[in-house]
Amino acid sequence: MYYENIFHLLLNVLFPPRCVFCRRWMPLTSSDRVCTACRNEITYCMSYQRCISCGKPIDEEMKKCDFCRVYPNLPFERICSAYVYEGKAKEALKRFKRERYQGYAQEFAEYLKAVVEYDCTNVKFDVVISVPPRPERMKKEGYDQARCLAKELAGRMNVTYLESVMRQKEKRAKQSGLGRAARMKNVKGNYVVRKPEEIAGKVVLLVDDICTTRATFLECAKMLKEAEAAAVYCASAATTI
Ligand SMILES: [Zn+2]
Ligand SMILES: [Zn+2]
Repeated sequence: MYYENIFHLLLNVLFPPRCVFCRRWMPLTSSDRVCTACRNEITYCMSYQRCISCGKPIDEEMKKCDFCRVYPNLPFERICSAYVYEGKAKEALKRFKRERYQGYAQEFAEYLKAVVEYDCTNVKFDVVISVPPRPERMKKEGYDQARCLAKELAGRMNVTYLESVMRQKEKRAKQSGLGRAARMKNVKGNYVVRKPEEIAGKVVLLVDDICTTRATFLECAKMLKEAEAAAVYCASAATTI
């Protein structure tokens, strides 16, 4: 324990820790990635009544949101999300997309694991995979934050992370900036399961950084079910209300 502390302190001296959410410097002795002020200020999905399908906060006394209630045959079992996409969480998620600092994925994965375990008690996941990035973006930036998050989550949950199970077709417009109907249309037919043999009969946990209209999760889960996945659960660090 003593040596662990010394090691930690040395690491912190070399790489001074900053709060994941507000970027303020943390005390050198801290093993935390989030300051107390942010811990109290972040909006956690778990503090709300949530839709039992998509995990978005809803009015009390309802089980499902208006969207999930009327959607015919949802291809996923449920979506588990950690934070509401607003305020400091939104800022942190935006930085997570730009900066390659592993601390984001570690912090988000740690809390997301707790949410997934709470929401999916008794579910035994066979594999964790991530929503594939747009190929244009990968070519340009070579960084995939959904993959980073999924790998951290898989490691913490002791489940195998499978690389590149799905891919996106080329030349699709960005989802951000589109309205709900346009997003639904934009994702349709755009995801391909490259390795169906690796997920057939498996209980899959599909990970993305943010869930907005549910369109991406819906489309990917549909393709995974067509490739004969036994069940698809989804998890995202944040969700919009
Ligand atoms: Zn903070
Ligand atoms: Zn819902």
